Amino acid sequence: MQEKIISIDISVENIALKRAFITALRRVDSVSFVRVRLVCSKGSEAIGEAPATFAITGEDIESIVNSAELLREGLIGLRAKEAVDFVQSSSVGSSAKAMFDMAFMKLLGFFKLENSEPIKTDITISLNSKERMLLDAQDAYESGMEILKIKLGNDISHAIDVTKLLSENLQKAELLIDANQAWSREESFLYVNAINSLKLALIEQPVIASDLESLKMIKEQSSISILADEAVFTLADVKKVVSTKSADMINIKLMKCGGVSRAIEILEYAREHNVLCMLGSMLEGPHSINAALYLAFNYRDVIKYVDLDSPLLYKTPSDALDFIYDGAIISPRFSMPQ
Ligand SMILES: [Mg+2]
Repeated sequence: MQEKIISIDISVENIALKRAFITALRRVDSVSFVRVRLVCSKGSEAIGEAPATFAITGEDIESIVNSAELLREGLIGLRAKEAVDFVQSSSVGSSAKAMFDMAFMKLLGFFKLENSEPIKTDITISLNSKERMLLDAQDAYESGMEILKIKLGNDISHAIDVTKLLSENLQKAELLIDANQAWSREESFLYVNAINSLKLALIEQPVIASDLESLKMIKEQSSISILADEAVFTLADVKKVVSTKSADMINIKLMKCGGVSRAIEILEYAREHNVLCMLGSMLEGPHSINAALYLAFNYRDVIKYVDLDSPLLYKTPSDALDFIYDGAIISPRFSMPQ
């Protein structure tokens, strides 16, 4: 018989970053997140975390804490499986759901590896002047990062210039372009036409999340794969994008879909429909990155790109991770039982 949850602590945590993280949507110098620590009747414990990414999920630290407090009383006395349903059927935001869901899934024994062969993450190059972006990208590449995620903003000529500059100077690197919804349909066409002959891995979410029609038109115009990120939160969103052929690939993040149990549903769907995925994250704490990494290891057949570079951006390495980052290469910290 599974143990019952007997207590839930809620705290707000901060981890300083090596340097500012800048995208079309925001600039941050540290990662802030809410952490819940669950204790069960026979002593099992599990931790869940959710960062505040108001620009994407509409949840800030305060609202995630409020959601956690709102759910806490109803969760006491439940078993992990019942708790998953309780949280998923509540009306709290997707990050708050993800925070609890990962802790319950840990209690349910999900945090196991089916294959412990190392995987490789990309690393983010923040939005900056083109000279600075080139330097950052060269630095990253020279330190062993072969997959670079380039953050671009709403200045479309800057976006085109940066892409050309990086593509010319880093011919062996794999370049992933992320516009974070910064462009209009017309700007996206301008961009795609200007860079169509370059060797890029993909272009992520060029237009606003709600505009699937433009996304599809851009996909049809582009010789480079288009990846939907902000446009796909839930399995329902994924099904819509896939059935309307609005993007070539999808980016799955725990904080968008509501946690590990929901990410598994999306990954199973993707596996069944031959849809390649990116497994990404927000700028997150070590326990939520752990949860995402177990997925990245276990669904490597459908996850073409792993975008879990948060731990590389921490000022001080975290010992809460179950994995070790050797540059871009991620291995389990512990030898896994066979
Ligand atoms: Mg993105």
